Amino acid sequence: MVEWGADLSEAMLREQLDAVLLKVRENEHKLAKFGRLEQRLMGARTLVQLMWVILHEFPLGFALDTVRLILDDGDGEWSQALGADLVENYAASGLLLYDDLQRCDACLLPDRQPVLTTWDAARHADKFGDFTRTPGSIALLPLVRQGHLLGVIGLFSHDADRFGQEDGTWFLERLASFTLMCLENALYYEKLERSSWLDALTQVNNRRYFDVRLSEAVHHALRHAQPLSLIICDLDWFKRVNDEWGHPAGDRVLQQAAQLMRSMLRGSDSFCRYGGEEFVALLPDTDSDTANEIAGRVLRAVAAFSFQIGTESPILMTVSIGVAQMERDRLVGQTADLMASELVSHADAALYRAKAAGRNCVVVHV
Ligand code: GH3
Ligand code: MG
Ligand code: MG
Repeated sequence: MVEWGADLSEAMLREQLDAVLLKVRENEHKLAKFGRLEQRLMGARTLVQLMWVILHEFPLGFALDTVRLILDDGDGEWSQALGADLVENYAASGLLLYDDLQRCDACLLPDRQPVLTTWDAARHADKFGDFTRTPGSIALLPLVRQGHLLGVIGLFSHDADRFGQEDGTWFLERLASFTLMCLENALYYEKLERSSWLDALTQVNNRRYFDVRLSEAVHHALRHAQPLSLIICDLDWFKRVNDEWGHPAGDRVLQQAAQLMRSMLRGSDSFCRYGGEEFVALLPDTDSDTANEIAGRVLRAVAAFSFQIGTESPILMTVSIGVAQMERDRLVGQTADLMASELVSHADAALYRAKAAGRNCVVVHV
C-alpha cells in the first residue's frame, strides 16, 4: 500500500512538473514573440515606420485578422505630424484618429487593464471602425500615461475563443506601454524636425528649408525639362519701421507680410524667409513671364495692405521684387548646384535693380 501511494504521488508530481514546464515553454515562446515586436517598434525611426509596424506587423506577428490603432487627436497633434495624405493612407490600414475617446472608453475597464473578451456587437460596433468580417473576440489595450487615456490598440480575431478575460495580460500591458512610449517619442521628434524647417517669427519656412528645396527643385526641373523660376522680395525702407515704432512693430510687419505673400502663392510653391526682411518663392514649372505676373500680384497686395503695428493707425509698406528663371541652355558643363546658385544670384541682381529703379517694382533678370 505504501509503495502504491508513493507511486501515485510521484506520478502526480511528474504531471504537475510537466504542466509547469509546458507553461514555461509557452511563456518563453510568447516572450520571444513579444520581444521581436518590441525590437521592431524600437527600430522604427519615424512615425510612419511605427504606424507600419503596429498596423502591418502586429497582425502578422499575432496571426490576427485586424489591428486598429485609435488615437486621441483632439488637439490635432497626430494629424498634423502625419499630414493629410498619410492620415488617409493609414486610415485604410486601421489608424483611427478621434476627437475624443469617450466611445472607446465605454468598452474599457476602470482600472485600465487590457480587456480580452468575445465580440459583442451592441457594445463594440461603431467604435473601432468597420470590419469586413465580424470579429469573434477582441483584445483592447489602453494606451495610458499618468492616468490619461491617449489611445487604444485593438486586436481583433475571427476566432471567438482567441481572447478571454481569464488569459493573462502581463505581456499585452507591457506591449501597450512600450508602443505608447515609442509613439510619443516619434511624435516629439517629428515636431522637433518640423520646427527646424520653420522660421520662428513668421511661421513660414526658413532658409535651411529653402536650400534643400532649391536643390530638389533644380534637379526635378532638369529631369523633367520644366521651367523653374525664383522670386526674391525685399520690403522697402523696412528699417524705418524699427526706427520709428520699435522692433516689436517691425516684427509684426514681418509676420503679416510673410502670411500675406504666402497666401498669394500656390501650395506647390515653396515660400521661405531668406533672412531679415527678405523672402523667396520658388515656383516650379513656371517661366519668367508667369513669375513676373505672380510677382506683380504680390507687389500690389503688399502695397494695398494695412499693416497693424499696435498703434492706432495701420501703416503702409511696399516691396521690391527680383525675378529670374533657371537657364537650362547653359547646362552644358554646369552642375545642378551651380545652376541653383546662379538662379539665386540672378534673382538677387534683379532685386538690386528694382531697388535702384526706385523700389515698389518688379524687375525680371534677362
Ligand atoms: P531697403 O529698401 O533698401 O531694403 O531698405 P531697408 O530699410 O528695408 O533695408 P536695410 O537692409 O537697411 O534694413 C533691414 C532692417 O531689417 C535692418 C534690421 O534691423 C531689420 N531686421 C532684420 N531682421 C529683423 C527682425 O527679425 N525683426 C525686426 N523687427 N527687424 C529686423
Ligand atoms: Mg534686405
Ligand atoms: Mg529692405
